[in-house]
Amino acid sequence: MREKLFIDGRWVSPAKGGTFEVIDPASEAIIHRAPAGTADDIDLAVRAARQAFDHGPWPRMTGKQRAAVLRRIAEIILERKQELARLEVMDNGKPLPEAVWDIEDTAGCFSFYAGLAQEMDAKPEEVIPLAEPRFSAKVVQEPVGVAGAIIPWNYPLLMASWKVAPALAAGCTMVLKPSELTPLTALELGAIVEQAGLPAGVLNIVTGLGPDAGQPLSEHPGIDKIAFTGSVPTGAKIMAAAARDIKNVSLELGGKSPFVVFADSDIDKAVEWIMFGIFWNQGQVCSATSRVLVEESLYPALLERLVAEAAKIKIGNGLDDGTLLGPLVSRGQYEKVVAAIERGRAEGATVAAGGGRPPGLNTGYFLEPTVMTDMAEDNFVWREEIFGPVVCVKSFRDEAEAIRMSNDSRFGLAAAVMSKDRARAERVARAFRAGIVWINCSQPTFTEAPWGGYKQSGIGRELGRWGLSNYLETKQTTTFESEEPW
Ligand code: NAD
Repeated sequence: MREKLFIDGRWVSPAKGGTFEVIDPASEAIIHRAPAGTADDIDLAVRAARQAFDHGPWPRMTGKQRAAVLRRIAEIILERKQELARLEVMDNGKPLPEAVWDIEDTAGCFSFYAGLAQEMDAKPEEVIPLAEPRFSAKVVQEPVGVAGAIIPWNYPLLMASWKVAPALAAGCTMVLKPSELTPLTALELGAIVEQAGLPAGVLNIVTGLGPDAGQPLSEHPGIDKIAFTGSVPTGAKIMAAAARDIKNVSLELGGKSPFVVFADSDIDKAVEWIMFGIFWNQGQVCSATSRVLVEESLYPALLERLVAEAAKIKIGNGLDDGTLLGPLVSRGQYEKVVAAIERGRAEGATVAAGGGRPPGLNTGYFLEPTVMTDMAEDNFVWREEIFGPVVCVKSFRDEAEAIRMSNDSRFGLAAAVMSKDRARAERVARAFRAGIVWINCSQPTFTEAPWGGYKQSGIGRELGRWGLSNYLETKQTTTFESEEPW
């Protein structure tokens, strides 16, 4: 575990020399003291990234040359897969097989953007037809410059890759600020890019607290673009900071995503996807389908099955064989989720399953998979993101009511629908006001497809070619084609 920040290709101690504790959420033990970066370190990192962008080789290399480095990063991540996955479990708490999957996806993300970097060489410019024949116009895309990335703790290395890989593919340089709850694998990424031969200053990694390191990064005038994933209140602060210098900004924020289940659905499949949609990663997933809407005639049977299956989930240390649900990431998150359940109950909801600490697990931030019912539509748990293993279930009468209830949210990240009637499923999918929609499933995420939300769930899209566009500026050049010689 690393004790230094990664700035300008070197491992350096934080300017103020501070550290913060890294806690294993399963044992509550302090497993590391990570370097606490502050405004001085951010400034150093931004200057290094600026120098690397303005004068270094990276933005001037061909896409093919950048792709070779990105592919090497992916290879090293895969070579270190088991070790990185174990670090992720100790830091975040998730079950090991989920962490292994995350690391494979992280490598996949670097490989995917290597492909897009290489494609950029094939179409360096586009000629635009103009109505006025004496002029010609062409369009090129160029890297946006120095990017800042601020990321959350639920998928520590994967969330880093969603920003680092497209930024590097585009030819940008970057300062990455990981979450203070999960800094371990992000610091390893410094060693990985170093080994892969990324030029100094292209990627700088500063761990630290949000107000001490994140805020100075979002406010730094040397940054051209800020990319953020996290909560709505922090997103609003980042956007306000970006507004001051008119920085390019993209935001991936929270969600309260519905899952509409029509009565013609296979009940086993419905319960399986509902559980995947809310209990995976302890429900700490921005796109978690935390509101389940079930057609009236199926509601009693589905609820009974869901309650029975939730009780069977094996809870424990993410490193133990067979664990399906680990601890929540931190004491703060645990207390926030428990308080939400209590508030929901006080406002009239019933806890049909779980709701408390699993018997026998007295240490660690463990919480039972929780199913809540009977809440009014204005109940806190129905409206607000809980970010824990808590699913709220309500019935609906008909398609129109299901759509109205689904869209009645300030969020619009994801939504899911299940039915054997394809036309109906596709109709409902179109009616959802959300950026990510699943039919007959919930959560499968592919690097090729765009990811992001409507409404207060964010601005812009990550992944796929949309993720690359986040880090590109568009330049048009118009030439007056006079007949005089040049
Ligand atoms: P958070 O907003 O508390 O923290 C996110 C990051 O912002 C952390 O690195 C933190 O240190 C930093 N930060 C905190 N205060 C800051 C400030 N004033 N200025 C700059 N940076 C600051 O969110 P979190 O608790 O880490 O993550 C949970 C939230 O993230 C949930 O709401 C979830 O929905 C959202 N999320 C969204 C997606 C998505 O793709 N849309 C993915 C994962 C998580």
